Amino acid sequence: MSRADRVADLLAERSLDLLLVTNLVNVRYLTGYTGSNGIAVVGRDVRRFITDFRYVEQAAIEVEEFDREEGPLDFIGALGDGWPEGELRLGFEDDHVSVRYHRRLQEVVPERISLVAAGGVVESLRAVKEPQEVERIAAAAALADEVYGMLREQGLVGRAEREVALALENEMRRRGAEPGFDSIVATAERGALPHARPTAVPIARGTLVTLDLGARLDGYHSDCTRTWATGELPDDLAETYELVQRAQQAALDAVRPGPEGREVDAVAREIIEAAGHGEHFGHGLGHGVGLEIHEGPRLSRSAETSLVTGNVVTVEPGVYLSGRGGVRIEDLVVVTEDGCRVLSATTKELTVVQ
Ligand code: ZN
Ligand code: ZN
Repeated sequence: MSRADRVADLLAERSLDLLLVTNLVNVRYLTGYTGSNGIAVVGRDVRRFITDFRYVEQAAIEVEEFDREEGPLDFIGALGDGWPEGELRLGFEDDHVSVRYHRRLQEVVPERISLVAAGGVVESLRAVKEPQEVERIAAAAALADEVYGMLREQGLVGRAEREVALALENEMRRRGAEPGFDSIVATAERGALPHARPTAVPIARGTLVTLDLGARLDGYHSDCTRTWATGELPDDLAETYELVQRAQQAALDAVRPGPEGREVDAVAREIIEAAGHGEHFGHGLGHGVGLEIHEGPRLSRSAETSLVTGNVVTVEPGVYLSGRGGVRIEDLVVVTEDGCRVLSATTKELTVVQ
């Protein structure tokens, strides 16, 4: 069954006839189109794809199972007609459509068609990866592992955080990928900021370096954090590393079909809380990864969605000690029938890189 057929099934469950897909990532997922401007309309017997004149040729190559149309840049003008007969309920992606776009849609779409907020339909399919998607994500993860291997050989001490970040990103490009997000290289007290920006400060000896990088390959992301030492560590940082590593492993062991995201989050959080560091683990345990670097399902204190086979999620507890430094360890995993397969292969034993 095609992805569009599965969307049609989900629409039926919501008493919808059609879905207007305006989120470009969802358009790509359903149609194969990789350009930067296009929309789709999907229903049981409707497969409409609209792009503008710049992408007509590209769409002819990429988009197969949809009827292709050329429309104006914002597509609104193309939505006045081309609809099936009768009274219809048209879902739109309310988590993506602006208030202004919605108002203009109401003006253009025939009155017999009612607009219904229907965000998350395609995202719910995207959260469960097909085998070929898992293999693409695994390839992006393997590429990130190679980048880590390169950095380990190059060394860290004396180099600016920014220079290291640039080297990571160059290496991803050299290997045919692109950085999926701005790489994090955070040393010493900046390691206490989960999303620190790399600075011009040279990396010192005897501290922690948090590295968070992801490659995007064939549209699919990877995401991997390692925290390395640049020499012998003070006791508190060494203990923090051991704690985060233990919490991360326990959470990995808990990943399987069944538990809700918040239950897996709790496994790591309870270990960190028992060590007195609960307030130093401020973010969720992990997130889904796929065509976007952050997607469903979430692993967090409030995530009520149960994991299912085919989810691809990160497991990334962290402890951040203000003014001292931080530790985060992040693996990318795919949920399997009886547990999970870890896609990140870079070692998590405390690694000293000088
Ligand atoms: Zn990350
Ligand atoms: Zn992440």
